[in-house]
Amino acid sequence: MNTTRSLQVNVVQQLRRKPLCRRRTQSSSRRIIDLRSDTVTLPSPEMIKCSLNAPLGDDVMGEDPTVQKLQQCVADMLGFEAGLFLPTGTMANLVALISHCQYDRAAEVMIGAQSHISLWEGGNAAIVGGIHTRQLPEDRETAHISEGDIRDIYRDDSDDHCSKTVLLCLENTHNMLGGIALPVDYMTNMCSICRELGLKLHVDGARLANAAVAQGVSMAMLCAGADSVSLCLSKGLGAPLGSVLVGGTEFIRLAKRARKRCGGGMRQAGLAASMGLYALENNVERLSVDHYFAMQLAAKLESYGFQISREVETNIFFFSLPDNTLYSQNKYCERLEQEHGIKITGGYSSGGKLFRVVTHLGVAIDDIDYIAEAMAKTLSNF
Ligand SMILES: *Cc1c(COP(=O)(O)O)cnc(C)c1O
Repeated sequence: MNTTRSLQVNVVQQLRRKPLCRRRTQSSSRRIIDLRSDTVTLPSPEMIKCSLNAPLGDDVMGEDPTVQKLQQCVADMLGFEAGLFLPTGTMANLVALISHCQYDRAAEVMIGAQSHISLWEGGNAAIVGGIHTRQLPEDRETAHISEGDIRDIYRDDSDDHCSKTVLLCLENTHNMLGGIALPVDYMTNMCSICRELGLKLHVDGARLANAAVAQGVSMAMLCAGADSVSLCLSKGLGAPLGSVLVGGTEFIRLAKRARKRCGGGMRQAGLAASMGLYALENNVERLSVDHYFAMQLAAKLESYGFQISREVETNIFFFSLPDNTLYSQNKYCERLEQEHGIKITGGYSSGGKLFRVVTHLGVAIDDIDYIAEAMAKTLSNF
């Protein structure tokens, strides 16, 4: 893929696009630019039209043709036998963990300490799955979990003291370390270590499409050899909801049972699946635009003295305010929103000093200068 060229074409197209997350606030007609997450976009009229025309059925009875089409589409795209549509990425990960551990309450799963599963899924693996998680540190620059740590933490069941490690989870892109895209060679190496140790590998690919587009590789290349992958349709891809979990036929059979037990069996779910199909057909390549905007914005902010926590690779970055600023996190976010209609979140690592920005379908090229200037003005007016 010629990324540079497709990027230029995309950027030109984006100049004409209608942002999809904008609402008028009740009290004024001021526009809101919401950079808190790539989950905030609204479905486009074209996307909604797809759902109105989608053939539907009862998916719990396995009779929704649109859901089946989506499941097979994602399975094919990622190189797996089968897929399962779920309401959220959180449920997709939970169902994956439960299915790999097969309700063995002594099973142990290795996860990154800064991973979404570790930090933002409410401890559900323990609560619902009876699964014991072990946290492994990720390198802050590369988001890699090291081979050495995996070998140190791994335990078989030869010793009565130990629960048996059955699964390793990797996150691509890595959200909390700043949208880092794990490369093919690292993923391949992790697969072979897992195979050697008899471990399964689950990829939390909520933003796997971002990882693929950023590196000019296919999603299938990034998860070749993994046992399961979860992909979010409701992040950068712009669907209003839904995730797809893919794996082998038997794994997906187990996952379907686990989904039902979690309350995730949905009826005429083709309504949502159709929008996911639209997202996959139309919104994958354009992720490069989100990445380009994030890089542009980070560069502008840097020129105003903000510190960007690391090089921007995809659509997420963290930053801190210029050194001598006295702002509290909340105050800065509050004023940015009140005075400029820009929403961001703060309070992340480094003693809570980091803010996060996420670009998405709802950001247009003209917004970049406006956002950077507003962020700088909010500092100087204090
Ligand atoms: C958002 C996210 C999820 C979970 O998705 P929800 O649909 O919000 O439950 C899982 N993993 C990562 C890395 C995410 O960013």
